[in-house]
Amino acid sequence: MRMIFISAHPDDAFLGAGGVILKHRALEDDILLINVTSAEKGLPFVEEGFLRAVREKEQDILCRNLGIAVEFLHVPDLKIQYAGEELVNHLILKIRQFTPDLVFTHYPEDIHPDHRSVSSVVKTACHLSTFPKVCPDAPTHTISNLFMWEEYSTRDFRPMVYVDITSEYEQKKETLREYKTQYPILRNVFSHAELQPRVRGIEAGCEYAEAFHCPWPVTAGDLSQFRRRRT
Ligand SMILES: [Zn+2]
Repeated sequence: MRMIFISAHPDDAFLGAGGVILKHRALEDDILLINVTSAEKGLPFVEEGFLRAVREKEQDILCRNLGIAVEFLHVPDLKIQYAGEELVNHLILKIRQFTPDLVFTHYPEDIHPDHRSVSSVVKTACHLSTFPKVCPDAPTHTISNLFMWEEYSTRDFRPMVYVDITSEYEQKKETLREYKTQYPILRNVFSHAELQPRVRGIEAGCEYAEAFHCPWPVTAGDLSQFRRRRT
């Protein structure tokens, strides 16, 4: 399977969907992580160029160790809402080039403007990637669905699909600690990412789970995957 995770800032995808990333990496699925910004405005007393380099190196090392491809788009931090058509077209071409089964991104209701903007832009790009007259030089591509994760800043989240990450939970916590520029100063953000899977696990009937919202219908060829498991 092929999956693209598109986040506003380097740590967002692992905060919201780290268990799923680790699960599907272990299954040897092809994963591409796209960082729209490098979060260079995230620390008020650190020079932006320096922080950009540090955060990209942090993400590079983490992804290299996990065998995940990573790209940085270098849209200015806190200005994604002004990136417009150029960013949409870039993502359309990336989707057509990588040909993912699934795309993952932020949920649209979020207190962080960059998260809201990425959610909207990614949904538009997934939709327009099916239109032959948009970026006509590249063949169209249709994904199976868009999966939207939740994190500390998400509001009014409507979970639709739960993924059991019980086997990946401890590794997710270890992976989050690799964000050494963020983990010590954003303890509540990271605590939320560690606690939320237990809540979703209780709802889903397992120890730990990550939940996702899909904007388009989740369909099944038949219902055999819902056969009751016998213990
Ligand atoms: Zn973020």
